[in-house]
Amino acid sequence: MAKKIEKLALFGGPKAVQTAVGDMFTWPIITAEDEAAALDVLRRRAMSGSDVTMQFEKDYAAWQGNKFALGYSSGTAAIQGAMYGCGVGIGDEIIAPSVTYWASCLQVYSLGATVVFAEVDRDTLCIDPRDIERRITDRTKAIVVVHYLGHPADMDPIMKIARKRGVKVIEDISHAQGALYKGKKVGTFGDVSGISLMSGKSLAIGEAGILTTDNREIYERAFAWGHYERFQKPEQVETPYLKDWVGLPLGGYKYRMHQMSAAVGRVQLKYYDARMKEIQKAMNYFWDLLEGVPGLRAHRPAKRSKSTMGGWYAAHGLYRPEELGGLSVTRFCEAVRAEGVGCSPGANTPLHRHPLFLTADIYGHGKPTRIANASRDVRQWPGSLPVSEAVPAETYGIPWFKHYRPQIIEEHANAFRKAALNYKQLLKDDKGNPEKLGGWHFFAHR
Ligand SMILES: *Cc1c(COP(=O)(O)O)cnc(C)c1O
Repeated sequence: MAKKIEKLALFGGPKAVQTAVGDMFTWPIITAEDEAAALDVLRRRAMSGSDVTMQFEKDYAAWQGNKFALGYSSGTAAIQGAMYGCGVGIGDEIIAPSVTYWASCLQVYSLGATVVFAEVDRDTLCIDPRDIERRITDRTKAIVVVHYLGHPADMDPIMKIARKRGVKVIEDISHAQGALYKGKKVGTFGDVSGISLMSGKSLAIGEAGILTTDNREIYERAFAWGHYERFQKPEQVETPYLKDWVGLPLGGYKYRMHQMSAAVGRVQLKYYDARMKEIQKAMNYFWDLLEGVPGLRAHRPAKRSKSTMGGWYAAHGLYRPEELGGLSVTRFCEAVRAEGVGCSPGANTPLHRHPLFLTADIYGHGKPTRIANASRDVRQWPGSLPVSEAVPAETYGIPWFKHYRPQIIEEHANAFRKAALNYKQLLKDDKGNPEKLGGWHFFAHR
């Protein structure tokens, strides 16, 4: 990579990215093996069955290191199952980060419970363990931990607080399948995990989700809630009070996984470790190239921590405007885009500012749903979570490389480097960040 400061493409210089990217960003990788697996289900007319799904559950549980896995139609459903599994009910509270996708917490309303948001850590972008304990009350049933954008959350202090206070931990692994925390896979720390496996995620199998746990009662409560086909015989259930209710789904939901997704999932999982390793190599190379560039920080665990980023879902970088004369991330991204790299400012818009968490009366309680069954007013108004509210101005999307191809990665890294090193020129026409930065979701539907 060139060491001198090159002229920005925004001001007429040559673009940093010159080489065609080919299938660098194509995901998931689909081969004849995936196609054959899906076709087999189709030809057997087994789309609504469970035989392949149960095999996929076994594969997934063994791979992640859990006793039980339960396939779902979506990650949203899996996380609701995890909440019900943990005993979340009327008037209860869960604690979740505000900077995440809505399906980490919003389902809690349908259980008659509510959410209290905690701050995220400025560097990991995951829930900040230092901000959890003061939010626990006698109504708190669970803490939802999101391994955000592939980064493992700091599980040791989180589990310590949870055990001390008798609160369950739900890991949302939708961004981080296969990530390690201190050498151990995420999903093996909390009481239960809910995981999206939809097509935009790093383990992408179709519209699907999965729940994992080592706790038999949580597992049984979860399938009793939304898998009527597995909740038919008292002798298949060990939890005493559940035996009386077999036959119908407790939640009134049908949540089983589409078997074409399960079939593709079995194939995808077989190759996932190897593909994830290549992503890790590519992404780590990208950040190594940018080490020491002012204003830019890698969003990844420290190198010798034995923690890893999994499949680097929706990879983002950390932005430190104070090192670039206050240059807005919006202007910074504009310069990066001119170099030929897709780069948008912000990440998930903090949830607590949306009307759904402040004023909306969804079920007709005659008061906001957030506090409909709550024993106190838990609403968190703008300004109440300053670290989370600053995240959009301190993050930007980076290329999510699926292959280790040094030349292409170097050109992309150079785009970011050029924009940062030329910050003084960019300051001139910097109009600042707009009021709303980032979005409610990342996945482009097609
Ligand atoms: C995608 C996602 C979900 C929801 O999963 P779906 O499969 O889309 O229902 C939940 N939590 C997080 C953090 C996600 O990114």
